[in-house]
Amino acid sequence: MKYLLLLSLTLLPLFAKIDIELSNGAVANAQTLLIKLHADAEEPKMSRIYAAFEGKRYPFYRNKFEQGRSFYALIPVSYYAKPKESRLTVVHIENGKKFYNSYLIEIYKGDYKSEKLSVAPSRAQISAKNRKRIARERKEAHKIYRTSTPRLYIKKALSLPMESKITSAFGNRRLFNGVLKSFHSGTDFRAKTGTPIRAVADGRVVLVKNRFFAGNSVIIDHGQGIYTGYYHMSRFKVRKGQFVKRGQILGLAGATGRVTGPHLHFEVHVNGTLVDPLQFIETADLLFWK
Ligand SMILES: [Zn+2]
Repeated sequence: MKYLLLLSLTLLPLFAKIDIELSNGAVANAQTLLIKLHADAEEPKMSRIYAAFEGKRYPFYRNKFEQGRSFYALIPVSYYAKPKESRLTVVHIENGKKFYNSYLIEIYKGDYKSEKLSVAPSRAQISAKNRKRIARERKEAHKIYRTSTPRLYIKKALSLPMESKITSAFGNRRLFNGVLKSFHSGTDFRAKTGTPIRAVADGRVVLVKNRFFAGNSVIIDHGQGIYTGYYHMSRFKVRKGQFVKRGQILGLAGATGRVTGPHLHFEVHVNGTLVDPLQFIETADLLFWK
């Protein structure tokens, strides 16, 4: 079980009695790290807590699944992060004073496979009109992922969008004519056209749209920087702005967008970074484990 890997690092009571737990001491590129922080109830109020990692800052949120003064932060590692030891610093402000706690996190190379694709250069060409459309859709998606809703809608451990065989794992490197062009940005589930696709957690539907690559797409905001995406649908069953429950049908599987056949492509973004969906679900489980 994953939670056995929890490292408990109790700090000396030089200042506040805080307890920091990291889900992993080592993470692969595109994986997510969970930090839990527990503060002693006797301690003065902490005005602000954040984590700094790989040049970015991540907020801590109150962990409503645990009693007392518990907080959590999700730290996504970029797919493009190079293997190295990287410093993670948890900063908290107490009575106007800043306190720092640093840890060395090992970033290792994920075990992602390579897919070699040979295409005639002419077939890989995209028209100027479609290039504009792709750029517009990318911009719209980035704007969504950069927005963090302060409230967390998730109420329990995340489920899967469907029970089916995984036909293509996240992270596969895609080499077109020997050149790394892209990597697989989600997890693919085998699905005949018409198979129901379900929300993995409660949230608000923020995008229902036909897009060039992703086809009919639904994106759900789960709050606090967590988003899930469901692509290539044949039919939508939700509207933009609607609140959905975990397990609710969002749409039916299909083969819309740039695909070779019907399937579900499932994606997860955390705090603005695309991550391995299944590793994220496993890591998020630790939030609910006391
Ligand atoms: Zn896919």
